[in-house]
Amino acid sequence: MLDLTHEFSEREKIKMFWEERDLARAMVGFYAAYIYPDVLYSAVLSLIFFLPLPERFCLSKRWALVPLLGVGLATAEIVYTRGIIEAFPLPTGLSANLLSAFLPVGGGWSWIERSGYEFMSGLKAERDFLFPAPVGKTIDHIIMIMDESVRGDYLSVNNYTVDDTPRLKTDTSLINFGVAVSGANCSVFSRVMFRFGMREGDVENWQQAINKPSIWDYAKHGGYHAIYIDTWRSPFNYGNGFTPAESQKIDKKISVLDDPSYLRDEKVVNVIKQTLEAGANEKIFLYVDKFGVHSPYYDKYPREKTIFTPEGSALIDISRAHYANAIAWSVDNFFARLKNVLSMDRTLLIYTSDHGQTLSDSLPLSHCSNGVDQKTVSGEGYVPLFAKTNDEGFGKLLRHTASEGNNHFSHFEIFPTLLLAMGYEYKWVKERYGDSLLDIPASGKKRAFYAGSPTRTRLISTD
Ligand SMILES: [Zn+2]
Repeated sequence: MLDLTHEFSEREKIKMFWEERDLARAMVGFYAAYIYPDVLYSAVLSLIFFLPLPERFCLSKRWALVPLLGVGLATAEIVYTRGIIEAFPLPTGLSANLLSAFLPVGGGWSWIERSGYEFMSGLKAERDFLFPAPVGKTIDHIIMIMDESVRGDYLSVNNYTVDDTPRLKTDTSLINFGVAVSGANCSVFSRVMFRFGMREGDVENWQQAINKPSIWDYAKHGGYHAIYIDTWRSPFNYGNGFTPAESQKIDKKISVLDDPSYLRDEKVVNVIKQTLEAGANEKIFLYVDKFGVHSPYYDKYPREKTIFTPEGSALIDISRAHYANAIAWSVDNFFARLKNVLSMDRTLLIYTSDHGQTLSDSLPLSHCSNGVDQKTVSGEGYVPLFAKTNDEGFGKLLRHTASEGNNHFSHFEIFPTLLLAMGYEYKWVKERYGDSLLDIPASGKKRAFYAGSPTRTRLISTD
């Protein structure tokens, strides 16, 4: 009823809230200033609605069928329009969206959406895909680490003035691509784009894009054992927008849910080591959804590990100090520990973050602003991008492009790089997914990221 701006009628946003529900407890305190007035307004409005109507305004019970019919029609429309129901009038839009958000999603589409689409359009939804066979040399162990909320230009290894990553700076095995740009500024949006190798333009055809092969399909087809380390959900529960088709491809899911949560990334180091040692004789594709530094920042590192104190007393100074401490703990410490335990022989590691942060005192959101009626800053798309490998050929090429094209890369080049490491043919990969990290970015190339959610987004340019 309070949804006068249609903000909560967006299916993707409802899904996002559901996906990120693990953070609810922490975020209530953070957004208390916005939540409390809304609760008050809704209480007052509810009170008005519950007041008995004067008898002359009352209708017979038969009229109760009218709103029910409206909900039914709106639900039918979901099937017909494949969920693009933002423009639906209230309250039907809200009810229909809530309903559709809980429909089982199969391979990106719920059964009802897929059947409805195929029935109405006479087309077959793309679900099967012909894969080329991997032909090239492969790297046996591929580790893809997706961090959470790490802003690329807030790392001293990328010239940030606060020295929050001193050990990364002196790590000569690090191949640093500088500050990269993510696909989107919101976790689920960006991560799904990433796992499906989406490029600019695919977002507008979201349902089709998430029916195409994901990174798991390529890994499995390439003969890799697909292992997923998750720091958010229990072993049988998938977050981050995973489709059932993706989860079916995963051979093993390992959940790291230590409490306090800042211990999880430390534990992940050991889990990576043990997983690769156990699979020493097989090909492994290991995808890590790292815990990272999601806001609020103060509880993302142990208090006794505080290094930086605020430069001033403003809220933003305090936030930045907490953030630098969280980065030192969650990124610098993580890589230092990983370096001690992990051999990079026959191994390629790629690291980035799902999106950056606003780190601004004038903007209410730390990320996920939609760029339409909310201001989006470039920092929400700035992410780190590193690689590590002892593979001579691959390492040499990566070092060359990292130095020649420093600060000109984005998430879009990572997916094709993973495919090349799995042995898929260079020309085929390039035609389908564009440049990889083995290509020097074309001069004058402009980077951009999507803001908000797939149904309400704007492309934000960063260069
Ligand atoms: Zn995120």
